[in-house]
Amino acid sequence: MSEWQAIEVLSIAIDGPSGSGKGTVAKMLAEEVGLPVLDTGLLYRLTGSVAMQRDVSLADETEVSVLVEKLLGEIEWTVDGIFLAGENVTAGLRSEQVGAAASKVASMPSVREKLLGLQHNLAEKGCIMDGRDIGTVVLPDAPAKFFLTASIRERARRRWAQLKDDSDNSLETVLEELKMRDQRDAERQHAPLKQAMDAIVIDSTTLRVDEVVDRMLGVLERRKLIVRST
Ligand code: C5P
Repeated sequence: MSEWQAIEVLSIAIDGPSGSGKGTVAKMLAEEVGLPVLDTGLLYRLTGSVAMQRDVSLADETEVSVLVEKLLGEIEWTVDGIFLAGENVTAGLRSEQVGAAASKVASMPSVREKLLGLQHNLAEKGCIMDGRDIGTVVLPDAPAKFFLTASIRERARRRWAQLKDDSDNSLETVLEELKMRDQRDAERQHAPLKQAMDAIVIDSTTLRVDEVVDRMLGVLERRKLIVRST
């Protein structure tokens, strides 16, 4: 049983750039407070990946948008990952190539619009959601919003360590790809990566995951959003 309990339907937004640790932190926080965690990046990763498989141009918003419409009828997005035609395809979506495709489709307003309804529906019962625009667009009224950052070198090092069993990319290559993805995510016109005005910023460059989670728990407790389970 978790040590903490959310006092009511609670949604927590965690945003930040790639490699900031939001996925790992979100999972650990979810265990502590007993909430489901949803990784919104999977929606964009799946769209990018399927677009590549089905020869849909990543530069053609209309085509990608039609694909998303179809995918909405075929996917199931859960705390265990994302399922396509009943199969959990999450593990195959982790590569940098898919990450780059995801950030291209994520810059398309009609694609984001179509994926928004799904995110709203799942957030209704309370959850921790991680992504880029959760605090600003998806859950603007969330009572707790965190923005995780870390230095670009440290983020690249983390990504490289995650990917190195499956790819020959050097740390420098991962760093360059990360810079490009950061730039695309931050400079896009629609729902760019930016911290919400009321988000609490945590720089995780020199913090362990449990230290980040402790800070978050402190915020949630001070705001009386969680209480210790008895
Ligand atoms: O978080 P992750 O690396 O899985 O996200 C992949 C890409 O999906 C990001 O680079 C970003 O372009 C996009 N994304 C987004 N909005 C979200 C989550 C992810 O634009 N809420």
